[in-house]
Amino acid sequence: MQGSGSGSPADDHPTLILSESQFPVKLGLPSVYPSGHRVLLVEDDMDQAAIVTRWLERSGKSVTLVSSRHAALEQVGSPDYDAVLCDLELPDGSGLDVAKRSKSQWPRRPCIIVTAKGDLGLAVEALRSKVDEFLPKPLTQRKLLSRLDDLLKPVETESILAIGAHPDDVEIGIGGILERHRRAGHQITILTCTGGGSGGTALRRADEAQAAARRLRAVLQMGELPDTAVSDGHETIALIEKAIRDSKATTVYTHSLHDMHQDHRAVHRATLVAARGVPNVFCYQAPSTTTDFNPSHFVDIGDLVEAKMDLIRCHESQAERPYLADDLVRSTARYWGRFAGYVHAEPLEVIRSKG
Ligand SMILES: [Zn+2]
Repeated sequence: MQGSGSGSPADDHPTLILSESQFPVKLGLPSVYPSGHRVLLVEDDMDQAAIVTRWLERSGKSVTLVSSRHAALEQVGSPDYDAVLCDLELPDGSGLDVAKRSKSQWPRRPCIIVTAKGDLGLAVEALRSKVDEFLPKPLTQRKLLSRLDDLLKPVETESILAIGAHPDDVEIGIGGILERHRRAGHQITILTCTGGGSGGTALRRADEAQAAARRLRAVLQMGELPDTAVSDGHETIALIEKAIRDSKATTVYTHSLHDMHQDHRAVHRATLVAARGVPNVFCYQAPSTTTDFNPSHFVDIGDLVEAKMDLIRCHESQAERPYLADDLVRSTARYWGRFAGYVHAEPLEVIRSKG
């Protein structure tokens, strides 16, 4: 929710005019940020660790490095990692012990063992430990990343595209629903049509949007449509069509038409054109939706309210906005919950639902 749409709650906030000097980095059109997978790297050779860390970070992953079996066993139970990359020969024991514990606690999490020894017996033992891959040194960037990225691809084929006019719109509307998709292993893309420039510097807002997307393991696409002047014409339709093509979306979430903010209405109309071939299309609530908002589908977010609040808190620059008040967000979910017998729910208007 952003901008100064007529009648919107943001009307009383001044519009910031950004000068060129406030854009030290060109944002691009649209910018695509990688999914932010987190890798636990277990490697005692610091030269090798530095090289591999650089490769992983360049491909958008974040890396936590530990250099012993003992330290790895302490870390590997944590749900914070999306993949484990472990050297076989550690100073205090075998990397296979790390792999075994990782696989026993997180069977679906990819685990790769790297070794300097071309020993077939070790490879067989690694595979018996349910290790996903056994890579011999010297590693190459191409070999490592192509295998790791293959393993990190979601098993599920469902692809979710959440569209918002401004940074924070989808977190407010469907933060709980997106967290549920993440936990189901679905692929998530967030398309933010504008940089939200009138609500703070675009760069800061892009960083915040990225932080929220990382929590959801989502790919973030940021368009550069003009904040508060989004049209429902070709430019917006083309931006959304591209996101649908890139993500191969099977479900699209967008704004409701019943909304006081003109950007939200324009994005709604453009989505309906662009998503004409998508089997599932739903509209979510914004702080500026009107009393005509008429949801018929309610998703239980009882166990996801805190996760939703964490997503909203990523948008630090907007923290003082009245519509982001903690009690308002919670009580809104509580209110909608009663329509479906849940404690907390997020409401959706259904444009199309084919399951
Ligand atoms: Zn908005």
